[in-house]
Amino acid sequence: MSALWNLTLHEALDALRHGESTAVALTQAVLERILAVDNDIRAYLTLTPEAALEQAQTADALRAEGQDAPLLGVPIAIKDNISTQGIETTAGSKILEGYIPPFDATIVRRLKAAGAVILGKTNLDEFAMGSSTENSAFFPTRNPWDLSRVPGGSSGGSAAAVAAGEALAAVGTDTGGSVRQPAALCGVVGVRPTYGRCSRYGLVAFASSLDQPGPLTRDVTDAALLLQVLAGHDPLDGTTWPEAAPDYVTALSADVQGLRIGVPREYFAAGLQPDVERAVRAALQTFVELGAQVEEVQLPHTDYALATYYLIAPAEASANLARFDGIRYGFRAEGDFETVTELYARTRGAGFGPEVQRRIMLGTYALSAGYYDAYYLKAQKVRTLIKGDFDAAFAHVDLIAGPTSPTTAFRLGERTADPLQMYLADIFTLSQALAGIPALSLPCGFDADGLPIGLQLAAPALHEARLFRAAFAYEQATEWHKHKPAF
Ligand code: GLN
Repeated sequence: MSALWNLTLHEALDALRHGESTAVALTQAVLERILAVDNDIRAYLTLTPEAALEQAQTADALRAEGQDAPLLGVPIAIKDNISTQGIETTAGSKILEGYIPPFDATIVRRLKAAGAVILGKTNLDEFAMGSSTENSAFFPTRNPWDLSRVPGGSSGGSAAAVAAGEALAAVGTDTGGSVRQPAALCGVVGVRPTYGRCSRYGLVAFASSLDQPGPLTRDVTDAALLLQVLAGHDPLDGTTWPEAAPDYVTALSADVQGLRIGVPREYFAAGLQPDVERAVRAALQTFVELGAQVEEVQLPHTDYALATYYLIAPAEASANLARFDGIRYGFRAEGDFETVTELYARTRGAGFGPEVQRRIMLGTYALSAGYYDAYYLKAQKVRTLIKGDFDAAFAHVDLIAGPTSPTTAFRLGERTADPLQMYLADIFTLSQALAGIPALSLPCGFDADGLPIGLQLAAPALHEARLFRAAFAYEQATEWHKHKPAF
C-alpha cells in the first residue's frame, strides 16, 4: 500500500472496510502531509485539524459498530466559497474575512451525511473569478508540479491539494471552467456536472445560471464516487433536477466499443500549445484503439463563447455581489460616514479586489438601460445558439472531446497584467457551462517541461455516467493518472 495520504478514495475506503487502516490514521497522515508541504503549496485558507480528527474518531466508532457510508472516514477538502457551519468561509475575499456561516451548504450536509472527514477550506480566486488562484485576496497557491507556476483556478487550492497529497479528494465550483481547468493544470480529474445536478444552496453565488459544484479527484472512480454523494434534488434549490442521479460507480465499465466521439475542429485553433494538441490527438487515437469511433463535428459559435460568458457571468455577478454592503456580512470600511451610500462605496472599494471590481463594472454596464438589449440580451441569444451547436452535434455523437486548457500551467505573474490573457485560459471550458452540459477533465500526458495536460470530454445534459464510462476506459488503458509530482 502506498503512503496513506497518497491513496485514492476507493483505495482508502477498501483499506477501512478491510480493517487495514483507520479513519484517524488516514486523517493524521494527511494532516502531517499538509504540515510538511503546505508552506510551499499554500492550498488551504483554513485548516480544521481538531474537528477533522473528531469526525475521524466518530467514523471509526461507527465502523466498529458495523455501520458504513459512501465516504465514511475519508478526508477531503472544500473550496472556500462553499458555506460550512462554524467554519470561516471567505470566498477568497477580504469582504468576507471573518464571516462564519450559521449553516452548511447542501453539498456539505451531503458530504457529512456520507461520513466524509472535512480537513479545511481551500484557496481560490476571489469569488471564483479567475483562472490562476492569483486573484485570492490572501495569497496565491502554487502548482505542485512546479512551484513557479499557477495551479489554475479558480479552484486552484482544491486541485493543488489533491495533486500534492493534502487531501484524498476535494470539492470545487465551476462557473466557466473552475473545476476542469485547475484539474488539467494539476494532473487530476475534475468534473463539472450538468447544471442543476448538484445543489447550489450555500455556495457563495458568482453567476447563478452557471455555477455548479464538482469533484476534484485522483482518478475517475473517485470522481464518480464523490459526485454520487454531491448530486441530487434539493428543495432549497429550485434549479436542481428532481430525478435522482443514476449509480455512477456501478456504471463504470471499460467498454467504449461503438461509442461515437466528436472532435470539434474549432478546438484545434491558433493558440493551442503544440504539446497539448499532440497529447489530445494521441488520446483520441487510444479511444479508436479501444473501439470508439472518432469523427469531426462542428460547433460554429465557439468563437463567441468568451464574449458571451464575459457579459452573462459579470452581469449576474454584479447582482449577486450587491449583498456585500458592509452591513450584513464580514468586513466594513473604517471611519465615520455621512451617508449609507458612502459606507457602501468605501466598504466595497476597500473590500473587493481589482478583478471583482472589474467584473461588477462590466456587469452593471451590460445591464444598464440603453445597453441591456445590445449586450445582455444579445449575449443570452448567443448563449442559445451555443447550446444549439451542442444539440446538433449530439444528434450524431455520444461525446465531444478536446483539450481542457489551451496551455499547460503558466508562471505566476505571467498573465496578471492582462485580463484578456487570463480569460483565454478558459476558452475551451466556457461553452459547455453556457450550454449547461456536463464535462470532465482527465490527465492525458505531459508537456516537454513535465507539466500535466488535460483531456476534456463533454456529454449531453444528465449524461455524466457516459463521461465516467469513457474516462474510465481511457484511464484503464493508460498510466497518466499514476504519475505524481515529485514534490
Ligand atoms: N475563469 C473563469 C472566470 O474567471 C471561470 C471561473 C469559474 O469557473 N469560476 O470567470
